[in-house]
Amino acid sequence: MVPLVRGPIPAVLQEKAATWTAKYLAERQTDPSKRPDHRCYGHEQVRHELRSMSCHKCFYCERGLTVREQEVDHHVEVAERPQDSFSWENLYLSCKPCNQDKKPNTTHPVTSCLDPCAPGVAPDEHLIFIGESIVARDDSPTGQSTIRKYNLDRGDLNSARLKALQELSLAVIAVYKRAHDEGRKVSADERSLIRAFSSSTRPFSLMMRAQLQQLGW
Ligand SMILES: [Zn+2]
Repeated sequence: MVPLVRGPIPAVLQEKAATWTAKYLAERQTDPSKRPDHRCYGHEQVRHELRSMSCHKCFYCERGLTVREQEVDHHVEVAERPQDSFSWENLYLSCKPCNQDKKPNTTHPVTSCLDPCAPGVAPDEHLIFIGESIVARDDSPTGQSTIRKYNLDRGDLNSARLKALQELSLAVIAVYKRAHDEGRKVSADERSLIRAFSSSTRPFSLMMRAQLQQLGW
């Protein structure tokens, strides 16, 4: 998770969110289990703005997502706050596991967790990595709650993060080997190439930044 800056409200929400919300709340009066229409809150304009906010990454786990893998998540779930089913500030881009397997707000409220869109949020003050494993920094309760709510220590994420670390290691080794073979120090361009692994546009950038710091890059 990294801090994200929310872009402008998509035109379709500007025009239609109030109407969609009124209609949906009326429908819930007769059918409380009814879900909001995903074609509305997941409109392509909404998806486009969300993916440009995070460079196609899940807002929660920072996994890189293809367009087909991207889901639109209600940050505060619909059951908790149906009136925000079409609110721009409540719509987050998510991978399927972070969206569908997250713990319910009743037991794991979002207010106890890191919110990547909250102004001034500093995930690195609450989350650290040991290799590919994510843990709460200094037993931070906020870090612990965030890991638990979105299952950020699940197996598929550990595998993906390990693969990313291996790619970084191979790149570092290649840079050192080339410099050694050519009898010179690592160049500024090569340093930039390695540091680019921690760019906020890349997957798992929070982990990559921590890893490069540990390696002295
Ligand atoms: Zn995710």
